[in-house]
Amino acid sequence: MTVSGAEAEKAAGSTVATGAGWEYAPAPESREIVSIEPQYGLFVNGEFGPAKKGRTFPTINPATEETLARVALAGRQDVDQAVSAARTAYEQVWGPMPGSERAKYLYRIARILQERSREFAVLESIDNGKPIKETRDVDIPLAAAHFFYYAGWADKLDYAGFGPQPRPLGVAGQVIPWNFPLLMAAWKLAPALAAGNTCVLKPAETTPLSALLLAEVCQQAELPPGVVNVLTGAGETGAAVVAHPGVDKVAFTGSTEVGIAIAEAIAGSGKKLTLELGGKAANVVFDDAPIEQAIEGIVNGIFFNQGHVCCAGSRLLVQESVAEHVVDRLRRRLETLRLGDPLDKNTDIGAINSRQQLDKITELSAAGEAEGAQRWSPPCELPKKGYWFAPTVFTGVSQSHRIAREEIFGPVLSVLTFRTPEEAVTKANNTPYGLSAGVWTEKGSRILWMAQKMRAGVVWANTYNRFDPASPFGGYRESGFGREGGRHGLAGYLDV
Ligand code: NDP
Repeated sequence: MTVSGAEAEKAAGSTVATGAGWEYAPAPESREIVSIEPQYGLFVNGEFGPAKKGRTFPTINPATEETLARVALAGRQDVDQAVSAARTAYEQVWGPMPGSERAKYLYRIARILQERSREFAVLESIDNGKPIKETRDVDIPLAAAHFFYYAGWADKLDYAGFGPQPRPLGVAGQVIPWNFPLLMAAWKLAPALAAGNTCVLKPAETTPLSALLLAEVCQQAELPPGVVNVLTGAGETGAAVVAHPGVDKVAFTGSTEVGIAIAEAIAGSGKKLTLELGGKAANVVFDDAPIEQAIEGIVNGIFFNQGHVCCAGSRLLVQESVAEHVVDRLRRRLETLRLGDPLDKNTDIGAINSRQQLDKITELSAAGEAEGAQRWSPPCELPKKGYWFAPTVFTGVSQSHRIAREEIFGPVLSVLTFRTPEEAVTKANNTPYGLSAGVWTEKGSRILWMAQKMRAGVVWANTYNRFDPASPFGGYRESGFGREGGRHGLAGYLDV
């Protein structure tokens, strides 16, 4: 493995050796298309402004540790103001507006996202650390697709299967994480708005910039003031949003720990709640699987977005008879991945989103070694500045190891083996989570059998990490409840 365009400035103009034996020239995407302001305000009632108490926090580029901007930190008074703006917009404008009119705004937002997709992709890579090829090909197109998809539902709610004239809930308080900042904003906003609700959105502290650019898109689309409000801040801001008595619906994506705290905080309030929480997915490879395809699926399953994915295939379950072969092929494949500058179009693995997350990954990986699993990473030089973690594979993992039980949320794969389909199911289900799973086999009957037995909201067959706005996504048990995406995603925003 080599560092592609590593340390952007250093590598510029030079070539890097690859495991394939030939050279890659750096292919950096230009930052020119994005203009990052030194200061950002809150977006309340259609306008940007400072937080009432004037507090701010920095957002940094995790690949370089450079401070990108200072961002307003919303306090209780700002939450009050945003919820009140959302309430007024709900009662006077958005709620009474015919669905066919609401749809026009959503289509407009989708179109603008497409038009400004390069700008969004570059900004998201800079603020989050994820590779430009992922923001360009996944995050931004999918975000636009969600607005298109839900625009189509806005005037058809009577036919969505929830009875005639289903009613919106009112004001939605939405708290999102840092792993897919714009995409999670789209997952939350698009169905809420289509159903006739207004929104107060709290992006993650480490990735506020794309949500603020989306707020600018709302202005550009001439969305009525107060329909979407964006409050940047820390966990306490999120806590104030969800607990606000003027909020009718809470939607949260993030850690199970915070999800539980939110559920406790709003219990008995009558607020409708959906939680999309963590996961520890099993990616199950049978001996009759197309191994080369499975290798790509394993890599995509755990190394996509540096493994910062709630549905990441972080536990690889391989049938014992092919385990050695699969691990050998996997290692060879990992030697070809390129880690480095997120803005380089050749980069496969970008930066870890924050120092805090890097510490967590480092600590859990050390626990894996201490508990007796064998750790392996391809030869890999990490950039000197920024937060980086080499792709890591643990073999000899047992089910009791922390790395097999806890969500690492990083580029770390635990390999376990099984002999029979029954054993695979038992091991796959041996987790408090239940968000996703993968199965690799050439037998259709086995796919159906596994899909029925595995307790996961999503089961991918001979593929992994496939997302579509028309397809519902969500979990069981400690992975949360409620569905996002598809017709089911509307239910969380309607009085049904
Ligand atoms: P959190 O669950 O803490 O953060 C998610 C969002 O909730 C952020 O916007 C956060 O704000 C906000 N928040 C934090 N505390 C509260 C609160 N008490 N009430 C309301 N909102 C709150 O995730 P972290 O970023 O701290 O990551 C910790 C771990 O969680 C990761 O290591 C990973 O394992 C897991 N995780 C799982 C995700 C998933 O999609 N399943 C997504 C992100 C993390 P702020 O950013 O300011 O803290």
